[in-house]
Amino acid sequence: MAKAAARRDAALRRALDLLEKVPLIDGHNDLPWVIRRDAIARGDVLKYDLTRRHNDGDTDIPRLRQGRVGGQIWAAYVPTEIEHPARSVLEQIDIILRMHAAHPEVFLPAMRPADIARAKRLGRIASIMAVEGGVGLENSLSPLRVWHAAGARLMTLCHNGTLDWIDSATDTARHGGLTAFGRAVVRELNRLGMIVDCAHVSPEVMRQVLDISTAPIVFSHSNARALCDHPRNVPDEVLDKLAGKADGLVMATFIPDFISEEVRLWMEPIRLALANDPVTDRMEMIAARERTHGARPQATLAQLADHIEYIAGRVGPRRVGIGSDFFGLPTTPVGLEDVSRFPHLLAELFRRGWSDSAVAGIAGRNFIRVFRAVEREGERLRKRATPAVGRTEDFGSG
Ligand SMILES: [Zn+2]
Repeated sequence: MAKAAARRDAALRRALDLLEKVPLIDGHNDLPWVIRRDAIARGDVLKYDLTRRHNDGDTDIPRLRQGRVGGQIWAAYVPTEIEHPARSVLEQIDIILRMHAAHPEVFLPAMRPADIARAKRLGRIASIMAVEGGVGLENSLSPLRVWHAAGARLMTLCHNGTLDWIDSATDTARHGGLTAFGRAVVRELNRLGMIVDCAHVSPEVMRQVLDISTAPIVFSHSNARALCDHPRNVPDEVLDKLAGKADGLVMATFIPDFISEEVRLWMEPIRLALANDPVTDRMEMIAARERTHGARPQATLAQLADHIEYIAGRVGPRRVGIGSDFFGLPTTPVGLEDVSRFPHLLAELFRRGWSDSAVAGIAGRNFIRVFRAVEREGERLRKRATPAVGRTEDFGSG
C-alpha cells in the first residue's frame, strides 16, 4: 500500500516537473457561460471574482494555478435556441475580454501560438478565445472576421442543434453534412488562421471538413466512439482520417457520459429531454432520475485515460490533447473534479508507461503544433484568397 502511494507520488511529481517546462493547454472551458448564468454575478466578471475559490464551481484562478494550466481555450458559447444569437456571442466574447482586463497579471490573450510560450515565460496563463456555436453567425460570413478581430482563434462550428448550413451530431441531419455556405465557413476560417473545431458536428460534417480544410483541425472536447457510443464522440473511420494528410487533434473530454458507456446509457433520457442548453435543469433532471433509478453511475479518471490510450493507439499520441469541458456543474468524473486536477491525469499516463515526450504532446505541444500549422496556412492563404462575403441565401442550398 505504502509502495503504491509512493509510486503515485512519483508519477505526480514527474507530471508537475514536466509542467514546469511544458504548458498544459485545455481545449474547452465554459466559464464565460458560468459567469453569465451566475445568479449573483449575472455576467459581471468583477462581481464573480475569479480570485476567490468557487467551491460550487470548477474553475477559478487559485485552482487554475494549482492545476498548472498554461493555456486555456475559453468558449464564447451560446445554446442553439438562444434568442439573438449574434448579440449573445458578442456578450460572451465580451466576458472573455473583461476577464483579460480584470486580471492582466494572470491571463495573457493569445492571438498567436508564440504567445503561449511567452505566457509560460511570464508565468501567466495563455488565454485563447473560441466561439462555440456557428448559430452566432446568423447565416452571414462577416461575423467570422469580427470574431477574429476580437481575438477568437478557434470556432466550434455548431452546438447541439442543426443549423441552416451544418448538421449537428445530436440533432436531425438536414443537409448531408455542410451546405455550400458551410464549406465557405471552413475555407474562411482557414484563410483567417482560425482553428476549425469539429466537436458537436455530425460524422458526415467531420469527413467533409477533413476533406475541405487545408489546415489541421481539432475536436476540442470529444472522446472515442469505439469506447463510448455517444454521438458527440469521434468514430474510428474519422480518427483514421486524422492520421492522414489532414492532421488534427482529439482533445479528450471529461463529460462523464462521453467517457463511460454505463453513464451514457443512464443519462440518455436526460440528454434527449435537454434540447440544447446543457446547463439549465440538468441537475434537477439528474436528481429526479436518481429517485427512480438509483444513484447516477460515475465515470473515472482512469476511464478517460483509456480513451486517450485508445486514440493514441489508433492514430498516434501526437493526435491527442485534453479538452475538459468544465461547465460549472458537479457532474465531473471521479478524480477530475476541477481545473486543479490536470496533473493527476498526466500522472496516470506516466503510471501506464508513457514517455515524457508523449505526455508533453498531450499536455500541450500537440495543440501548439496544430495552432502553428493553422497560423502558417492562414498566412499563405491570405496572400492569394480574398475574404469571402455573403449570406446563406447567396450560396444556394447545395
Ligand atoms: Zn460543447
